[in-house]
Amino acid sequence: MKDEQPNSADQHENPTPRQRRRIHWAFPLGIAAAGLGAVATVLLRGCWHRNMSWPIKHEHSEYSYQVCTDCGVKRLFDEKHFRPYGPYGQDVRELIAEVERRREERMERLRRDPGTDRT
Ligand SMILES: [Zn+2]
Repeated sequence: MKDEQPNSADQHENPTPRQRRRIHWAFPLGIAAAGLGAVATVLLRGCWHRNMSWPIKHEHSEYSYQVCTDCGVKRLFDEKHFRPYGPYGQDVRELIAEVERRREERMERLRRDPGTDRT
């Protein structure tokens, strides 16, 4: 009693698990992270924004910003001190608004109580 059925066809059907590992990274950036901010970006995409572009001049203001070449998130850039600052985000105008709001708050605090300028 021998079990010698010719089943060579089966041997070619080895599923390759690697093919399933493909990440759908053509994830629509704008929708994915709109309004969620940098934390969500890191969680969703595992990106720490290590590869930022050179500063780009924002068209409608005096601000410059950088773009992460991995995930596309943006951050304002201080050309005078040559360093990025402020929060990460998808919309440069929002970032500018946020930075200006913080500045206003600080000015307000200074006006009321000089000497407590903790940034
Ligand atoms: Zn990034």
